[in-house]
Amino acid sequence: MHPIVILGSGLAGYNVARELRKLDQTTPLTIISADSGSFYSKPMLSSAFGSGKTPQSIAMSSAEQMAAQLNATVRAKTSVTAIDTAAHTLSINGEILAYSKLVIALGAEQIRLPIEGNAAGAVMTVNDLDEYANFRAALKEQTTVALIGAGLIGSEFANDLTSGGHTVHVIDIAAWPLARLLPSESGALLQQKLAALGVTWHLETSVTSIDQAGDKLKVTLANATVLDTNVVLSAVGLRPRTMLAQAAGIQTRRGIVINRLHETSAPDVYALGDCIEIEDLLLPYVMPLMTSARALAATLAGKATPVSYPAMPVLVKTPAWPTIVSPPAAGASGAWEITSDAEGLKALFKAADSKLLGFALHGKATAERGALTKELPPVLA
Ligand SMILES: Cc1cc2nc3c(=O)[nH]c(=O)nc-3n(C[C@H](O)[C@H](O)[C@H](O)COP(=O)(O)OP(=O)(O)OC[C@H]3O[C@@H](n4cnc5c(N)ncnc54)[C@H](O)[C@@H]3O)c2cc1C
Repeated sequence: MHPIVILGSGLAGYNVARELRKLDQTTPLTIISADSGSFYSKPMLSSAFGSGKTPQSIAMSSAEQMAAQLNATVRAKTSVTAIDTAAHTLSINGEILAYSKLVIALGAEQIRLPIEGNAAGAVMTVNDLDEYANFRAALKEQTTVALIGAGLIGSEFANDLTSGGHTVHVIDIAAWPLARLLPSESGALLQQKLAALGVTWHLETSVTSIDQAGDKLKVTLANATVLDTNVVLSAVGLRPRTMLAQAAGIQTRRGIVINRLHETSAPDVYALGDCIEIEDLLLPYVMPLMTSARALAATLAGKATPVSYPAMPVLVKTPAWPTIVSPPAAGASGAWEITSDAEGLKALFKAADSKLLGFALHGKATAERGALTKELPPVLA
């Protein structure tokens, strides 16, 4: 009997394996991963520095330990190069491996902006443990970091690195941090709180070039500001890894297209996690992939189980200004209602009939998360 093969050992790949093993202990299972196959919580990467976590201490279990726990074969440092959906096989640089069912959990990759200059290649990204280790190694005492991107990950890094004693400049074309998730009043306060911690903001501008200047990197912005930095970190967003699926003829749009059963357009090929698109939605967070993992495991174990997602607020790891956000669905019609005092801010996005469609909570108002989440509509009923 050919194994169920899972591509990817991120939270999506390992969680669907764990959920499957609760239902089925014996079907042969193989997990293939381009990285080390260590089990770790990726969200820690943007908050680990301030708490002094090393790459080694972030990895909770090695590939060997995961293989033993899951009664599975884990092939680490192994890149799949092609999928043949008709033959039910994978190719690993010429080696052919047959599968009974295939689960694609290939995640998403960092978007790289086009930047000029002789040191444009020095831009770092942090999207896995190896990249985190490289980034940590580049940080010396009191490093000056130019951080491109003031979204969720960029703002978290800004808080974390500043708390760790580094000098941080954040550059973003938006007018306030987390502009895609927060109303302007909310974003402006987050900006102020992080500025009070020491973050310098360069908003409504972008990086045009990066050049080596002695042992420094000279970062030139579109507004003509020039920053002398040691390290440039980019966190401008993630794009689902669709290439392998696309080359195999599996339907992709922004992500790998799946239905509620996590089925792709190819027989016996499923997908979950950051690489998927479901009913026009990308859901690149931990809660959706955990929900997916439970439903897909049941489907793989023989009980077809459609997924539905409740409202899933995201905790933004900015201790300088605790923030929880559940943005309204794209295109939702309504308006923000904002109340604030010295200790917190509550932004509620309401429809014309007063129904709550989204929220952003800061400071003391984060305590209302549970009650308000119950009022929100599900992401997919
Ligand atoms: C810094 C940071 C902070 C975050 N913070 C939060 C947060 O606070 N809350 C939240 O909900 N979400 C957060 N997220 C998002 C969350 O971490 C992701 O949604 C989640 O980790 C995605 O898991 P995944 O398994 O789908 O993808 P990944 O973890 O990207 O896993 C993809 C796997 O595919 C493997 N792979 C890729 N190509 C190949 C190939 N060709 N062959 C074999 N294997 C391959 C990789 O090696 C990897 O094992 C954060 C993300 C980042 C980067």
